[in-house]
Amino acid sequence: GSRCTIATIGEILVEFVSHRRNCGLTEIADYSGPYPSGAPAIFLDQAARMGAATEMIGGVGADGFGRSVIARLQADGVGTRGITVNEARTTGVAFVSYYDDGSRDFIFHLTGTASDHFAVPQGLLVPAETFLHVSAASLGNAAMRGMIMATVREVAAAGGRISLDPNSRPDLMRDAAVRAVLDEVMACCTCLMPSTSDLAFMFPDLSEAAAIEHLLGAKVEVIVIKRGAAGATVVGRGERHDFAGHSVEEVDPTGAGDCFGGTFVGLLAQGASLRTAGEQANAAGAMAVTRRGPMEGNSSPAEIAAFLKQRSGPLP
Ligand code: ATP
Ligand code: MG
Repeated sequence: GSRCTIATIGEILVEFVSHRRNCGLTEIADYSGPYPSGAPAIFLDQAARMGAATEMIGGVGADGFGRSVIARLQADGVGTRGITVNEARTTGVAFVSYYDDGSRDFIFHLTGTASDHFAVPQGLLVPAETFLHVSAASLGNAAMRGMIMATVREVAAAGGRISLDPNSRPDLMRDAAVRAVLDEVMACCTCLMPSTSDLAFMFPDLSEAAAIEHLLGAKVEVIVIKRGAAGATVVGRGERHDFAGHSVEEVDPTGAGDCFGGTFVGLLAQGASLRTAGEQANAAGAMAVTRRGPMEGNSSPAEIAAFLKQRSGPLP
């Protein structure tokens, strides 16, 4: 409904991007950063930019990195009352370097930092009016897993909505505890947003159509399939919309999935149709890969509209 607030619980980080490719973070090179990051934060920043009411729940240190992320989130309209500023620990940090084939190496300093030492503030969320987005990567962290699952159960029981980005990194999925809670979230979410590689990993024996059929269960109303450069597909009950990928120059693909998701859920929460939400998200995801830095590629509705207008060809 109109009073719904989109919330995420999870890691808030800063990221440093190596300007040298193919060195796997082993060589001395120029880096840029600190870029605001963390999948739940990127997602929510974009949802707020789309005009949705949001609350971010997470933690940062009382340091420059933490202040820079909070300032960005606030500037973009994200609710930050749920962010714990931890005097005793420092803000989480990630380093990333790319290979020419598009793959990437990450080093995360997350466990034991301010980024996984926080609490969900009592009374901040009204469960029945919450649209809780779960980024599965956060479930790999035991401290965050407990907080996320407690809130998932509260929101589901109260009739609020849940969305899930399954982000099936192999190391994550080998963890039986993660697998179990992921299945639980999948069973109570209304909106599921796998990439094609997530689907292949979760359902190696099923065709895409069979996997969609399998997933469109009692609760799941919308499935979004993210296809990278090839675009996206949105499937609802009795409707399907395929969006071709926009041709863009890929500079930094990190964060495109979260930007896509934040655009899509941000619009859905405000009552947009699946077609409109998918079209806008597909454009936002394409724009996201053209800028260095995971959150730097997020965009406003006006920027998305201008991009789509330009892509639809010259006016008569
Ligand atoms: P992430 O690496 O953030 O986890 P993801 O695998 O979840 O990403 P992608 O499929 O890579 O998600 O990207 C999300 C969406 O962004 C795509 O469905 C598409 O709409 C858009 N997109 C991503 N990469 C490109 C690209 N190179 N060209 C055009 N559009 C893109
Ligand atoms: Mg992803």
